[in-house]
Amino acid sequence: AVPVITIDGPTASGKGTLASRVAQRLGYHHLDSGALYRACALAAQRAGIAPDDEPALAALAAALPLRFEGGRAWLGTPGEDVTDRLREEAIGQMASQIAALPALRAALLDWQRRCRRAPGLVTDGRDMGTVIFPDAQLKVFLTASAAQRAERRHRQLAAAGVSATLPALLADLEARDARDRSRSSAPLKAAEDARQLDNSALSIEASVEQLLRWWDD
Ligand code: C5P
Repeated sequence: AVPVITIDGPTASGKGTLASRVAQRLGYHHLDSGALYRACALAAQRAGIAPDDEPALAALAAALPLRFEGGRAWLGTPGEDVTDRLREEAIGQMASQIAALPALRAALLDWQRRCRRAPGLVTDGRDMGTVIFPDAQLKVFLTASAAQRAERRHRQLAAAGVSATLPALLADLEARDARDRSRSSAPLKAAEDARQLDNSALSIEASVEQLLRWWDD
């Protein structure tokens, strides 16, 4: 089977950065599944679909005209670069809300599995190792303390010129994690055969090296 490495974990644990670095080192494809949920949220908002209209959201997701190319996300035909819009806080909030709907998740299953192409795939999200790629050759569950994650997000936002207070960011992270962990459809949890990595005190480089050592084992 085409090799897959899955990296799951809570919000702002550094999954995306780690996945993209490891993919680069191995020459593999990278799928950021969070961006897929965010793209659904953006498309739904534009189509005027309510965040609790499950059948309409599932239909939209099943036919979502989304492409990842050149490190950017393109929505629609011929394709509008929505990479920056997908990172907006309001879109993340809506993504987290609609991600709890089973019909929407089911509609995105095949799209994600089709990303498993030679020479290999590194993917990050919440249920990559548990639901989407249960037979992945390496599964990692990435964590970091909530305080660390809030601080990292704070620095990211500050660099982008957005001001937000640490307590507000912490509260938002915790609310989002609680929703991801408690939903009935594909809740956030480590796969039984996942390796646990707490990167609270690790540099990105050290985390990349740890993953590559596991991969070589
Ligand atoms: O990781 P990111 O913050 O971009 O994901 C946005 C939202 O999409 C998350 O809050 C989560 O609820 C949802 N998500 C999910 N399953 C995935 C990836 C993301 O439910 N595999």
